[in-house]
Amino acid sequence: MLKEIKSLAHHGKQFVPDLRTQSVSPLFRGRPSIAGDIIAHDIKAAAAICPSGAIDSNTGSIDLGRCVFCRECEFLNPGKIKFTNDYRIASNTRNALIIKPGDNNPLRLDKTAIRKEVRRLFKGSLKLRQVSAAGDNSCEMELGASGNVNFDMGRYGIEFVASPRHADGIVITGPVSENMARALELTWEAVPEPKIIILAGTDAISGGIFGESPALDRRFIATHHIDLYVPGNPAHPLTFINGVIDMLGIK
Ligand code: SF4
Repeated sequence: MLKEIKSLAHHGKQFVPDLRTQSVSPLFRGRPSIAGDIIAHDIKAAAAICPSGAIDSNTGSIDLGRCVFCRECEFLNPGKIKFTNDYRIASNTRNALIIKPGDNNPLRLDKTAIRKEVRRLFKGSLKLRQVSAAGDNSCEMELGASGNVNFDMGRYGIEFVASPRHADGIVITGPVSENMARALELTWEAVPEPKIIILAGTDAISGGIFGESPALDRRFIATHHIDLYVPGNPAHPLTFINGVIDMLGIK
């Protein structure tokens, strides 16, 4: 008995009481901040080393939907590019993921672009089916962690379910390979209306470093309305949960 009590005391409190303000490791890579006065030479050098084509070589903006958060551009331009600790980087519009030089505003969802039925029907209970479409198990692990004792997204009524027939939407991870395209389509068809689509991680949003691969078939992503983009490589549970509760209008 004493052994168990000692073990519990050693573990301490693991529950994250406030997912909005939780502090994270200084090593965490969240929203980038790009100096407004970054010069063209530095932009071009950063764009040249970026492995995923996330940096616009003309404007210097960073597309979080393509970024793999390797920090190479920051190491090359210390003081001009910095990845902050801000993990609230999900958005419901693709354009909002493009961070421009001098733009240090926090990323928030465009409320006018959220479909009315999403908040009306799913605010108290949202069941999601996860589809790993050629994922590498990193985003999948983080999504699993979103429901663990630490992050506990179940406190908001958000859960993953086994069957798409019991789900209100799907969460796609991975760049969507040709081999998974039909399975993704079938899963989506099995979810009853109204339903939502969330893309979790850089690979799902843009294909990431696999973006140009002929082995991908991303027609599903291109032809369906996406309700939420959750950047990250992989997407962090705090990013995922904050994005979803923002979408649902939960304070
Ligand atoms: S951190 Fe992102 S933008 Fe910078 S080099 Fe890596 S992938 Fe490119």
